[in-house]
Amino acid sequence: MEKNIKHLDKIIWQLDLKVNNDREFIAPYLIKANDDYIIVDVGPTCGIPELERQLKLLDVNENNLKYVFLTHIHLDHSGGLGTLLKNFPNTQVLVHRRGIPHLIDPDKVLWQSSVDTLGWVAKMYEKPEPVKEECLVALNDKTFEIKVNDLEFSWIETPGHASHHFSFMLENKKVMFCGDAVGMFIPALDIMVPTTPHPYRMESGIESINHMIERNPDKLAFAHHAIRSNANELMHQHISQLESWKDCVAKSLSNSIEEEEAISLEISKIDKDSEKLFIQKDDFGGLRRALVSSITGFKFIVLKDNDPKS
Ligand SMILES: [Zn+2]
Repeated sequence: MEKNIKHLDKIIWQLDLKVNNDREFIAPYLIKANDDYIIVDVGPTCGIPELERQLKLLDVNENNLKYVFLTHIHLDHSGGLGTLLKNFPNTQVLVHRRGIPHLIDPDKVLWQSSVDTLGWVAKMYEKPEPVKEECLVALNDKTFEIKVNDLEFSWIETPGHASHHFSFMLENKKVMFCGDAVGMFIPALDIMVPTTPHPYRMESGIESINHMIERNPDKLAFAHHAIRSNANELMHQHISQLESWKDCVAKSLSNSIEEEEAISLEISKIDKDSEKLFIQKDDFGGLRRALVSSITGFKFIVLKDNDPKS
């Protein structure tokens, strides 16, 4: 099998798009439902040629790619959707209702806000192309069930990382596709780390994880970038990790340690998983950048907590 494609399960593949040559950063899942296929998040525009090449190798085409399931519309998850759908006009996209206007008209808000927050990374991802409205299916409720051939999926709204975030469980296998709602798991370093860029909503983030724990999944499929068993243990562990990050960022700020890089040294003292990524210099550039921006998310949370006006 081609090295960028991992066959994780009889019906689940992971397609590593090697965006910016980074290993293990952006890797959509492909799920087979009898003769049809589903992609979970498609990655950014710059990854679409590689995604299409891999889909072709796996015999996925415009007639059998039935759905794209979007966890949320950040550029690294959905930026390439409009480009992909040009060659897959029959594919339907399930997405949170609030994501829809941004997918139809990405120039208006999505692109500009991504450039503002991500800078050159947004430009590296490349500009999203508009998605045709008729391809989009709006998810209006907090929960949603869908059957695709013999596979059953139950969706739950999981805000926190994004206000419009959904996770869904493949009930037949008890795999929870959690997008960015439970941080990132990096198998090469064997670590789990937060993904809490500003504006991260911590209270709803933890509530979302608790909702997923109630569903009792066996496995977690992290958008970045692995499927792991012991799902509930990992989710409890992640809640503790978020709380300890918040404490550490609050202590750092009260000691006038304000720069993200300086705070990363403080976090490294209390979180060995995060330390393993913070000390990376060459590989894992995109993931390290994402982790540094997770500190920014917590800085805003702490500053808001400390602001008597809020
Ligand atoms: Zn992401």
